[in-house]
Amino acid sequence: MSDVAIGVDVGGTKSLALLVARDGRVLGERVEATPHEPANAPGHATAATVEKLVRALCEPLGLRPDALPVGLGLAGMVRRDGRLAFAPNLPGASGAEVGTLLGVALGSSLVVVENDANCAARAEHAWGAARGVANFVMVTLGTGIGGGVVSNGSLMRGQSGFAGEIGHMVVAAHGAPCPCGGRGCWERYASGGGLRRLALEAISEGRLADLAESVGDVADLRAEDVVTRARAGDAEALSLMAEMGWWLARGVANLSAILDCGHFLVGGGLGAASELFLPSTRTALVHLVEGYHARAEITVTPSLFGPRSGALGAALVALERLT
Ligand SMILES: [Zn+2]
Repeated sequence: MSDVAIGVDVGGTKSLALLVARDGRVLGERVEATPHEPANAPGHATAATVEKLVRALCEPLGLRPDALPVGLGLAGMVRRDGRLAFAPNLPGASGAEVGTLLGVALGSSLVVVENDANCAARAEHAWGAARGVANFVMVTLGTGIGGGVVSNGSLMRGQSGFAGEIGHMVVAAHGAPCPCGGRGCWERYASGGGLRRLALEAISEGRLADLAESVGDVADLRAEDVVTRARAGDAEALSLMAEMGWWLARGVANLSAILDCGHFLVGGGLGAASELFLPSTRTALVHLVEGYHARAEITVTPSLFGPRSGALGAALVALERLT
């Protein structure tokens, strides 16, 4: 029985791997850019990147990569059997058996695959900001929006394992196109990718001139650039963060109507800038949630582990299912 596991969170932009003890302590950390997959071999480049991360964590400690449980959190629709059925933010790996490919590369049968935001929810529930909370929704703001819904203490799975794809809930009919093929999905308005899109839209309308000038070519603009400008006190950047906060509230209000859930945890890369948008989210919720004052309090708070919760949770899932 292993007392440690490796959790890897494969996001749309970065892949983070953590070596994690059974009590949640992080013993090692490695990060790589998530690769672009060639069309003729879906999933192979992702599996190779994860293999590199796993070996890099094992080597300095003399651990055997084929003997350690490895949990893989993937940004997309992960079936109960571990197959990545559809992944608009990992387009090259969509439909691939990434877990099987990784197992072959490592010579290991100890690989388990789960949705990345479900992993984040598990970590926050076990060790983080949702300890002892029976009903909450984990909202991860990265390239897209991931979701993990915990109801009566258990992760909601749905008939195929796809429950919690909250980023593709439509918040603007006929709105911005989404990589999933739809339009107006929540993540086009309230994620890192959504913030970037909102910023580009604002620049095309003649707003955010200082931000546009500071990045030079707007094609290179990142969500982090907006956050940096907002933290420096740029009024237009602050206003855009508040606008994103309103869109976050729009989706939270929809989820409140469906789930009657009182707690929302905000994580992912953009979650680290939550002080710039959560005040706006909380103000907007009062107007957007049906019967707001008739309900118990609705909290929207930062997660404890931020961008690390997915990898931590992937390790936890590996420990739970493989040891
Ligand atoms: Zn979508």
